[in-house]
Amino acid sequence: MSTDLSGQLGSAFGSFFSSAIVQLILDSIVFYLFIVWLAAAFWAFRDMHDRTENPVMPYVAAAFILVPTPFFFLLGVIIYRVIRPAERLGEVYERNLAEEALLAEVEAVRTCRGCDRRVQEEWILCPWCRTRLNRVCPNCERLVGLDWTLCAWCGKDFERPATVDRAIAQSAPGASTADVAGQASPGRPAGGTISNRKPAIGG
Ligand SMILES: [Zn+2]
Ligand SMILES: [Zn+2]
Repeated sequence: MSTDLSGQLGSAFGSFFSSAIVQLILDSIVFYLFIVWLAAAFWAFRDMHDRTENPVMPYVAAAFILVPTPFFFLLGVIIYRVIRPAERLGEVYERNLAEEALLAEVEAVRTCRGCDRRVQEEWILCPWCRTRLNRVCPNCERLVGLDWTLCAWCGKDFERPATVDRAIAQSAPGASTADVAGQASPGRPAGGTISNRKPAIGG
């Protein structure tokens, strides 16, 4: 009985699939799958290209879609979407920019290197720990950085870094007081360089 039934079903299926219209529809479906398969591989190539600078990885991604054949490539697409890098390069770049901007903002807040409290750009001394923050140009009386070798405002040459000026001041205390005006006193270190300084507006 069952063999008869299956034989009948088989012949019915055979005549069904051999009919021209059904064959055309099946061909169309296979053709459609084939096109979508290639398009998916191209999409994976472009997508991986946006996510990595490695020149080989886009080809690997395309192969990941091509290898499972037109009938199983959707599985490859799903797995690819799971394992691909989470961020596009543009997004990574934007995030880095935002982080750098935030960092620059934090660094722009000036703190006293002696006590780490917030100090104003225009202050000469830290009011809490008395660390020298700026000095005054003896020529134009504007604020200049401790590490400047000449005045950015009037061009007065301070000639040498603080250590040499200090040596001069010690060897000849009466001479050239203008050059050492605003320097740290001889017994105390004059301090290191001040980074990210903006020219202070002195008066
Ligand atoms: Zn301080
Ligand atoms: Zn000056």
